[in-house]
Amino acid sequence: MKLPRNQAEAWAVAAREYPFACCVVCGVEMCLEVAHLDQDAGNNAPENLAWMCGAHHSMYDVGLYPLAAIKLLRDHWQKNRDKVDHGARMKDAGKRAAATRALRRARSGPTLFGSES
Ligand SMILES: [Zn+2]
Repeated sequence: MKLPRNQAEAWAVAAREYPFACCVVCGVEMCLEVAHLDQDAGNNAPENLAWMCGAHHSMYDVGLYPLAAIKLLRDHWQKNRDKVDHGARMKDAGKRAAATRALRRARSGPTLFGSES
């Protein structure tokens, strides 16, 4: 028998058990939802809950992520409390953006507002 849905309890349990609230898949810390990993919205046992953003919650619910991976990630975020660091990916983004602007200027000629730096 399925238990009745109790979202307030789900949120309270998740906040208590998983105090570092971020999507377990992507790490975003806003617009979070509490996912019921066994798809039973009434099962608010801590082991059955995980923070997820709306997109990843939907993707989990349709079976795109294995349960074991979600539990592993949930434990990872609680243990490491990482902030997402885009430094390695963005290290030369400014230079590349300047090169793109220069290329666009060269292709399109002068703009209405004169030359951009
Ligand atoms: Zn996410």
